[in-house]
Amino acid sequence: MTSRRTRERLIERLRREGIDDERVLEAIRTVPRHLFVEEALASRAYEDTALPIGFGQTISQPYVVALMTQSLLAGGRPRSVLEIGTGCGYQTAVLAGLVEKVYSVERVESLLLSSKRRLWGLGYRNVRFKLADGGWGWDACAPFDAIVVTAAPPQVPRPLLEQLTAEGRMVIPVGDQASQALLLVQRTGSGYASTCVQKVNFVPLITGQV
Ligand code: SAH
Repeated sequence: MTSRRTRERLIERLRREGIDDERVLEAIRTVPRHLFVEEALASRAYEDTALPIGFGQTISQPYVVALMTQSLLAGGRPRSVLEIGTGCGYQTAVLAGLVEKVYSVERVESLLLSSKRRLWGLGYRNVRFKLADGGWGWDACAPFDAIVVTAAPPQVPRPLLEQLTAEGRMVIPVGDQASQALLLVQRTGSGYASTCVQKVNFVPLITGQV
């Protein structure tokens, strides 16, 4: 169920869906997604679907992780990436294999702790974690070449825009539970340019005290 063939089928499916960045496909091929979900769900880990990870949260669909990662890398490989919404750490691991340094913020303590343990166990040494409301970003470590947000706020949080480097880019789902757009926001000389990548369906970004 977690065999090379099962994983290869997922890669073929992602290709058919338009993921063509070989670096991203290799990263998805390498990260053992079955170790990021409960044992009972491991047999479904290489289906292209979101799965529950507890606390009303989900591990993102591989296609969406691939799409977000591909959008971030399209402007050149970022050195530092800020991720908001660690969850089970799957997107974190995909990024950590591709860039120098990942900073990941999560508001649910037990998710953060188990992801920290999981990623350390898998050998990742280039990730820093923080328990906080990620809507405020991570000021002390800013600016970031790229920001990826894996929960949807009603609009792009201002602090995140301000924590991008001069040519930084952010992928972020924006909207309510009825309708969300995945936006690619790029910092330009005079401000920010934003384009819609596609419609998506993320859990909401929850603001306030953790
Ligand atoms: N990145 C994950 C998906 C996580 S689901 C993956 O690879 O599968 C979204 C996560 O965002 C949840 O863990 C949720 O607790 C977290 N989250 C929601 N609001 C947040 C906030 N304001 N700050 C940080 N994390 C938040």
